[in-house]
Amino acid sequence: MNAVDLLQRQVCETIDAHRAEIVGIGEAIMDAPELGFKERQTADRVKEVFRRTGLSFDDGLALTGVKAVLQGEKPGPTVALMGELDALLVPDHPRACPETGAAHACGHNAQIAGLLGAAIGLTQSGVAKDLAGRVIFLAVPAEEYVEIDYRIGLVKRGETSFLTGKQELIKLGLFDDVDMAIMIHSTSPDVHDGSAGLSPSSNGFVAKNICFLGKASHAGAYPERGINALNAAQLALSAINAQRETFRDEDCVRVHPIITKGGDLVNVVPSEVRMETYVRAKTPEALLDAAMKVDRALRGAAMALGCRVEIETVPGNLPLRNDPRLAELFRNNVRVLFGDQEYRDYPHGGGSTDAGDLSQLMPVLHPMMTGAQGSHHQIDWQIADHNAGYVLPAKSLAMMAIELARDVLSRFVPGMTKDEYLERQLAVFRTETFDGGAVESRRESK
Ligand SMILES: [Zn+2]
Repeated sequence: MNAVDLLQRQVCETIDAHRAEIVGIGEAIMDAPELGFKERQTADRVKEVFRRTGLSFDDGLALTGVKAVLQGEKPGPTVALMGELDALLVPDHPRACPETGAAHACGHNAQIAGLLGAAIGLTQSGVAKDLAGRVIFLAVPAEEYVEIDYRIGLVKRGETSFLTGKQELIKLGLFDDVDMAIMIHSTSPDVHDGSAGLSPSSNGFVAKNICFLGKASHAGAYPERGINALNAAQLALSAINAQRETFRDEDCVRVHPIITKGGDLVNVVPSEVRMETYVRAKTPEALLDAAMKVDRALRGAAMALGCRVEIETVPGNLPLRNDPRLAELFRNNVRVLFGDQEYRDYPHGGGSTDAGDLSQLMPVLHPMMTGAQGSHHQIDWQIADHNAGYVLPAKSLAMMAIELARDVLSRFVPGMTKDEYLERQLAVFRTETFDGGAVESRRESK
């Protein structure tokens, strides 16, 4: 057994000795879910464990984030182990918060249990003296892209610059001293085969709030005096659908608009109709192209009806690129923890995460590990197997922190620099008002 194996064994034994505590953390957070940027109680739990394990920390980062550092006594890279603090809105979930409807229906409670389990293992086993480099334990706020209006309000009031936690932490410089970042997301046998696995990549997106503004009028007596904003929205949906044949299969574009307000009263021509959509794609370029086509479709619909359309675009996440060297490390790890046959390669993912933003800047690992049952974001989701859901992720994170392959950094090619990232994402914030009626009157006056 080599030195790394010995250290890993020592840490895993320590984690096993604290098994009840780690499971207790995961279950306590499951019963106290909080939405993004509001995870104060959850952050308090994190701080309490950091205090007990003797880790000094900074808190209130991007409103609720907490960052602790374990300094190894040998030189080496800095790896951030991450866990996400936030829950989702699933009011019918049996363990939802009765006041807010928040529920841990994505297993982020297990991420925090895993993160704190790794912190307990790495500090209480005494391996720090043999550790090369630094390990940062980072509890990050607001991964789920929800309560968009609330978060746009935070941005407008200057409380944040972005709508998700890792984006905000990048902006605040909290990753400036980090070389690579690792987290483990929960999954379930209902969704993924095998005990653990990894997609090479997943989609990025931008979000759009859309408002068609027409003119109200009596819907029966003189509809000709109105401008029907609902008809414009309907045309917009058709025009967006007409773009789909131009999306290349390899770009994995997904555009999924909804109408959130269809009118006011049935006997009045709808004068205000609201829509929301995400535009997702596999690469930043494909994302820009698809978003441009969606805007064009929206303007075209406004022109057809002679109404106005307001298009508010806000930055979503950039595409995730799982680092292949870190993926290799994880694969080996899964073999040790679960057995030879349990690792799976997943295909490219259609969903999105703000770990994607980080993965454009540094090597990032965002794999899945089983332990849950049910489907993500649904009422049947829960961590059913406490060992696989809470304890094994702690071991995996701690083992990877000990073993970090040195060639990860030398072979990593960033997608962009931090400055380029900020410039690109901040430029996405844009509100356009296009007046389809004015286009027509300009043409007539020529
Ligand atoms: Zn999640």
